[in-house]
Amino acid sequence: MCGIFAYAGEKINAASIVFEGLKHLEYRGYDSWGVAVVPVADTNKQIFVKKRIGKIGNATVVDMPESMFAFGHTRWATHGGVTQANAHPHLDCTGTIAVIHNGIFENYENVKNKLIQKSHTFISETDTEVIAHLIEEYAKSMDFGHAVQKVFNEMKGLNAIIAFSQEDDKFIAARNGSPLVVGYGKDENFLASDATALLSHTKLVHYLEDNEMAILNKNDIRLFNIKTGEPIKPKKQRLRWNA
Ligand code: GLU
Repeated sequence: MCGIFAYAGEKINAASIVFEGLKHLEYRGYDSWGVAVVPVADTNKQIFVKKRIGKIGNATVVDMPESMFAFGHTRWATHGGVTQANAHPHLDCTGTIAVIHNGIFENYENVKNKLIQKSHTFISETDTEVIAHLIEEYAKSMDFGHAVQKVFNEMKGLNAIIAFSQEDDKFIAARNGSPLVVGYGKDENFLASDATALLSHTKLVHYLEDNEMAILNKNDIRLFNIKTGEPIKPKKQRLRWNA
C-alpha cells in the first residue's frame, strides 16, 4: 500500500502541503518517496521532482520551488528495486507529464515493449513509468484527459493513478481497486489515498468508487465513469473525525 497526496490551490507552498500529507500516510508502509511540483515562477512551467529512498525522517522539501500545484507518493516497490530512479513520480520522455501510481499494472511489459519500438526511453524498472509514456503516446492524438482515460482502461490489475500535464493545472485521477478520496476546499482541492491525510485541510470529501475518474483543479472537481465517460454526481460527505 502506497500513499498518494495531491494539492491544487492558491497557497504557494504546495510542496510542503503535499509532503505533510505524505507524512500522514506513512503508516501504510513505504520504502521511498517523491514529490513533483509545477513552479509558479517558471514561465516554462518545467516539472520539478524530488525523490529519495528510505523514510521521510528528517528530510524536507524546502529546497523545492514555490508552487501552487503538486503531488507526492510514498512507494511500496513491486516492480523494480528500491532506488531513487524507481521512486515516483515518473515522467514521460518530454518531462512534461508526471504520474504517481498505487498498485500493479499487470500487463505493463507488453505495453513497454511496444513503446520501446516507438523510441520511448525508460529510466526506471517500474510498471508505473510505462503509464507516463503511454499517456504521452496517446496525447499526441487526443486531449490529455482522454489519453489518461484510455490508458487506465487498458491497464489490468488493481490500480489508482494521478497524472498531470505541465500545460494545464489539473489532475486526472482514476481508481480501480485501490483507494482514492477527493477533498473539497475553498479555492483549493485535494486528492489522497486516505481521508485522514486531508483532515487538517478539509472534512468535505468524496470517496472515488471503482472505475471513477476525477478531473480536479483548484476551483473544480468533476467526476466521470472512466469506462463510458458519463458524468457522475459526487456523494459528498462531511467527516466527523478529528486527526
Ligand atoms: N507498482 C508500482 C511500483 O512498483 C507502485 C507500487 C506502489 O503501490 O507503491 O513502483
